[in-house]
Amino acid sequence: MASFSIGVDLGGTKIAGILVDDTLQPVAKEQVKVDPERKVERVIDQVCEVAHAMQRKVPSGSKLAGLGLSFPGLLDLESNVMVYSENLDWRDVPVGAMVKGRIDIPFYLEHDVRSGAIAEVFYGAGREYRDILYLSVGTGISGTLIWNRNIIRGAHGISAEIGHMVCQVEGPPCRCGLEGCLEALASGSALEREAYHLVRKPVSGREVIERAQRGEEPYRMIVRRAAAYLGVGCANVVKIFDPEVVILGGGVMEAEKYLLPLVDTVYKASHSGVPVMPVLVAGKFKSMASVAGAAALPFLKGEGLL
Ligand SMILES: [Zn+2]
Repeated sequence: MASFSIGVDLGGTKIAGILVDDTLQPVAKEQVKVDPERKVERVIDQVCEVAHAMQRKVPSGSKLAGLGLSFPGLLDLESNVMVYSENLDWRDVPVGAMVKGRIDIPFYLEHDVRSGAIAEVFYGAGREYRDILYLSVGTGISGTLIWNRNIIRGAHGISAEIGHMVCQVEGPPCRCGLEGCLEALASGSALEREAYHLVRKPVSGREVIERAQRGEEPYRMIVRRAAAYLGVGCANVVKIFDPEVVILGGGVMEAEKYLLPLVDTVYKASHSGVPVMPVLVAGKFKSMASVAGAAALPFLKGEGLL
């Protein structure tokens, strides 16, 4: 019997839903904007509405493995409580208990970047590797370390917060309160900030990259500098953990063909005597990674792989 699964990814501004088959191929998609007030009850309602919309698309007579939910913030996966979400400004929200009353299928929660890493490890660029560093580069930058194909969460659930490694003393301010974090130097929002600073008008991160690709200054310089910080950041982390592969995912990597060589050149030049640098590759799922990983959770949990 054909088996399907649902993934829903709650972001800071949008909620994406996906129905996939057992090879993680999308069969249906849905996207809604997060209610601007971001009140907990309303947003959880929206998440469940998207899940229900996907549930209605399941072909009759087929099996539904369950629902995976990815959330942007620190989750306590024992109690299914969202401890903290900067994007949503939520604290100690019992998201699991709230979803339970509204959903009649098995469901599983995961942090959004970890969810993206799971998609890559089991269905994407990480399938052939055991020890993996995954970096998501989008509006922000975050990471996940997978060792022996297990997610390393750390003692406090915050391991591989690579976006907040300080890479430039007295650098640009970061949303975390520090200055010169990798996220403040190399994320989509860093591209936007630099472009605004130089051309005095709002330019989206995507447009900055498109213009850079066409050779337009100052966009070209902005992107090259961000890519250099990304290369150095990856090389720094590699020197601590020595993974087999570094996977770059997230929305910014939609421009893989242009960006990856820029990052890779600086990454390789930053080896400082390390005899072998792990290969640096782009992820398969890019901006879809979190929702794809969410949809993978029911399958992987069912097979005892997570
Ligand atoms: Zn920071």
